[in-house]
This record gives sequence, structure tokens and C-alpha cells, in this order.
Amino acid sequence: MIESSTLPRLMHEASSRPLSLAQHEQTFAAATPIGSLLEELEASGLAGRGGAGFPTSVKVRFIHDQRSLHKYVVVNAMEGEPASHKDQSLLNTHPHLVLDGAEYLAGLVGAKNIAVCVARDNRSGINAMERAIHERARRSLRGPKLDLHTPPQRYVAGEESALTHWLDDNESLPQFRRTRPHVLRIGHAPVLVQNAETLANVALIGRFGASWYRGLGTSNSPGSTLVSVSGAVAHPIVMETELGTPLRTILNYADADSDPQALLLGGYGGSWLSGEHLDTPYCNEELAPLGVSVGAGVLVVLPRKACGIVETQRVVQWMANESARQCGPCAFGLPALADGLRHVARPTGDATLALQRLEERCDVIKGRGACHHPDGVVRLVRSALQVFEKDVARHVQGDACKGSLDSRHYAAIPQLERAEELVWE
Ligand code: SF4
Repeated sequence: MIESSTLPRLMHEASSRPLSLAQHEQTFAAATPIGSLLEELEASGLAGRGGAGFPTSVKVRFIHDQRSLHKYVVVNAMEGEPASHKDQSLLNTHPHLVLDGAEYLAGLVGAKNIAVCVARDNRSGINAMERAIHERARRSLRGPKLDLHTPPQRYVAGEESALTHWLDDNESLPQFRRTRPHVLRIGHAPVLVQNAETLANVALIGRFGASWYRGLGTSNSPGSTLVSVSGAVAHPIVMETELGTPLRTILNYADADSDPQALLLGGYGGSWLSGEHLDTPYCNEELAPLGVSVGAGVLVVLPRKACGIVETQRVVQWMANESARQCGPCAFGLPALADGLRHVARPTGDATLALQRLEERCDVIKGRGACHHPDGVVRLVRSALQVFEKDVARHVQGDACKGSLDSRHYAAIPQLERAEELVWE
């Protein structure tokens, strides 16, 4: 059994190949969950690892309480966030841990089907899951039916209502949900969507219990989490860390720039944090007063030579191209935000007016999409205007920084390579 106070947990016995079912069972011991899984999940304080950080037990109980003969558990391993590679790492090392978590929850809520969703561009993740599902089918045909699905690779395709919609009728569009919580359905069957890392944690809590899980982390943010560290680092990595570990310690593992200008936390829909806060513990209760959160477990390091406004503009432009274009504020608002940032970064007219319009557009767009895609972009823009406040003022006065001029040839955030315009599916 893994000691409760040691790491790694999720990446235990990590190898360059996915663990086979036999290796997995040797590593993680018993495959049957303890009796009172729902109570253990509640006591563990496990929060979803997909980005929103919603309490897992609340979501599980909600679907558990739905009266229906048919239910689904959906494994969300879509990982549309370009700077995140944690779910991919998990699939490539421990696919059975993710499937154990899904089977535990299927048993708990009464689901007969498990839909495993991996983005269709993620070839190694698909192969790992195909093999793992095949191994389980050869072992036993009892239990919930496991099926692999490969939705299109888009940022919002992994949003839970978009994923459910795609499984239902092949259209990968987020759905308007007037009330929350809202029961997502495939046909008439209620659906429980859980992120791959969350499910791996469920598998461990199911085996070892809540107090074991709480052996790491803080009282409000228990356990460990996977973090993708990239940007100005010598070695981009995915690592497992105890929640509450200082940011500086995490960055040291990736040989990061020791004096960064800022960090992007939570992903492209996350927020900038000034480089002066490197001693802050990595957990939501400590990050929240600084306006940031753990989100999807992404840390991107911005070096001092880069221009934060230009880098933000590039991310916002990319996010605008990823919009599903079914809501006006998102379809027209996000390109307008990218345009506004371009005018602030490289003023061609009245830059003060451009900045004022940019702030007004943030107010107008927020909260008006079917999903939270535009809200994430607004959050990013607002944090950029705050963290890079001095640079913004200089740019507006016509004194653009050297970083903004160099950025024509240099990108501090390297993952923006996806095609600009893709056919929407
Ligand atoms: S807010 Fe944007 S991404 Fe979300 S559903 Fe509407 S158009 Fe699509």
C-alpha cells in the first residue's frame, strides 16, 4: 500500500509505457472499493481536477439521487487546454487507475455504461485506453460496459455539456443551462461527467479511504495534484505535487527562470500572477486573495524579456478562434478583446480610448455565454491589465517595451500552434 504522506500517488510506479492490468493490480492493491464510497468521497474533500474545482461528492450525489434505469459515467480525458498535459500523462502511465475510478462511480450511481472520451488527435492516449479496455473485457464481461469515444480536439469540446451533447448526437456544442445544478443527459439517461485525474483520485480514495487521502495537502485543499509546468523552463514537465507546496518549489523541479515576470495559473482561461508571489502555497485558499486559482493545474512561466500584453493578446486571439460561435458575446466579443489588446500593445490611433473600450467590453461579455469560455477570457484580460499595469500605461503613452517588439520573432507561451480556423464539428 502507498504511504498516505508520500508522493507519488497518482504517478506511482510511473513508467514510459502504460501499466498493464496485472502491473496495475500489483501496484495499487485491491480493486474493490471500500463499502461507503460516497461518505469517503465527502470526507476526503476531493475537488474536481478539470478546472472548476467543484466538490466531487456533490456532483456524484446529485446523479446518484436521480431516478432512472439508465445512467452514464463519462470519463473526460479531452484536455483541450493547450498548456495542460496532465491527463495525457495519466493515460500514458495509469489508464487502469482512471478506469477503476469510473467503475467505482458507475457502481455507486447505478450506471450501466461508461463512455471514455479522449480527443481524436491524442493518438497515444487513445492507444493506451483501447488496450486497457480490451484487457478488462478479456478478464470479465461483468460490470458496466466500457466504450471509447474520440470527439474532435477543440478547447470547448471537453466542456461537460458539449461532451454530453456530442455523445448524444455528434454535435460538440455547449448547452444553455438556465439552472444549476442541471442534469445532463444522453437520450433520457442522466450523465455523470468526471475528469480523468479526478477519477484516478476516486480510485485511490475508494481503496485507501478519506483519512489516507488527507495525509497530504491542507485542510481546505487536501491531497496531491498534477501540474503541467511550461514556458520559461529548462524542462517542461508534468509533476505530482502536494497541494499547499510553495510555487517556487514546484518551479524548481522544472528548472524554471528563478526571477520570472509573471506566472499564468490555471490555463488559458486562468489568470496572471505577478512574479513577486513565488512563495505563495499552491492551493486555492492561498491563491484566491491574489485573484488566481489552481484551475486545470497549469503553470506557465513568463520571462522578464517577454511582453505580457502581447502574450495575452496571442492567447485571447487563440481563444477567440476556439469559440463555438453560437453566442453573440463570445463570437463577436472575443475577437474584439483580441483586437483591443492589439491596439494597446501596438497603438496606431487613440490608445487611451482603445484601453477604455477594452475594459467596457470585458464588463459586457462576462456571464453572457452558454458556457464559461468567454468568462475565462475576460478573467485573463482583466488580470493582464492589473499585473502588467505599468507596461499598459507605457504602451498607451507610445513607449512600447522591447519585449513587444521582439515578440514578432519570439513567443513566450509556446503552445499556440493549432490552426486558426477549423471546421466546427
Ligand atoms: S459561450 Fe462561446 S464557446 Fe460557449 S457555447 Fe457560447 S459561443 Fe460556444
